[in-house]
Amino acid sequence: MFTELLNDTEADLIKAADYIKSGKVVGIPTETVYGLGADAANESAVRAVFEAKGRPADNPLIVHLASFSDADNYAKDIPDLARKLAERFCPGPLTMVMPKMDNIPYVTSGGLETVGIRVPSHSVMHRIIELSGTAIAAPSANTSGYPSPTTAQHVMRDMNGKISAVVDGGQSEFGVESTVISFDDEETARILRPGAVTREMLLEICKNVIIDPAILKEVEAGAKVASPGMKYKHYSPKADIIMVESDLAGFNRVVGNDYDNGVYALIFDGDEADCPYRHLTYGADSAQQAHLLFQRLRELDEIGAEKVYVRSPSTEGMGLAVYNRLIRAAGFEVIRI
Ligand code: AMP
Ligand code: MG
Repeated sequence: MFTELLNDTEADLIKAADYIKSGKVVGIPTETVYGLGADAANESAVRAVFEAKGRPADNPLIVHLASFSDADNYAKDIPDLARKLAERFCPGPLTMVMPKMDNIPYVTSGGLETVGIRVPSHSVMHRIIELSGTAIAAPSANTSGYPSPTTAQHVMRDMNGKISAVVDGGQSEFGVESTVISFDDEETARILRPGAVTREMLLEICKNVIIDPAILKEVEAGAKVASPGMKYKHYSPKADIIMVESDLAGFNRVVGNDYDNGVYALIFDGDEADCPYRHLTYGADSAQQAHLLFQRLRELDEIGAEKVYVRSPSTEGMGLAVYNRLIRAAGFEVIRI
């Protein structure tokens, strides 16, 4: 299949929306990461998304809407708390899991009775949803297991020949996927995946916010999980990633004592003064680290890194999202000093 590279002109967005309407799969920019979009109500189109990614069939796709007022067409029993959160955070990087209506097929929901709804703020994604006149199911546009794409070129690398088109809308602003929450009761949100809408931000609206334990540690084989994505290996480049929770001196000792070929470090901006080993940096604060993380993981593969020691980020605020992605990229391999 030829994969067309489209721009963000109105003519190209009309083309992208026409592809979606006719059951094809298109790579689309969003403010979080690039998504692999298909008509959420079209079973064969959604199956093609799973196939292009190699995604396990039980891992549901998030359904993207132009406005939260459309949620009543796809979800039922929407809690008042969800409506309040939507007023504050939609459009934006927040996905809310709610009971699904029958027009969301089980292929899209991964066999669940629920659907994750999000209203993206990126103007290109927003326009394509509007023009297509449907809800767009879209997972991240990477090959399953590999780091998520934050540029159209990343999507091309993973999806060239497998999908109809990729729309280039520049680099994704946040760089990590949306915050996913479900509702334990009328006052309580549960974070299933951390993102740019942080626990602190949710607490401005919710009385209680629970961080699901699976966010920070490995799920045991066979355990029941609140979100299927928690079970799978994720975000991993080919290189072996090892997290190091330490100050800079301790980190430098660990890396400095490893003489293997192909050893690299991924450190913070500001760490690099006289560090004796090969390295890349991924920002100085949590927002920059989120913005750069997946790009750096892909670059490490391109430069031939085989083993990468990563300075563990803060888990405060948006740092929790960065930590959650990295610890999965590392397959939970952590050195603590
Ligand atoms: P991605 O499509 O790559 O952004 O990943 C979507 C994430 O949202 C995965 O971890 C899914 O398991 C999670 N998710 C989507 N829909 C639901 C749902 N209905 N219930 C629980 N988790 C969901
Ligand atoms: Mg993904």
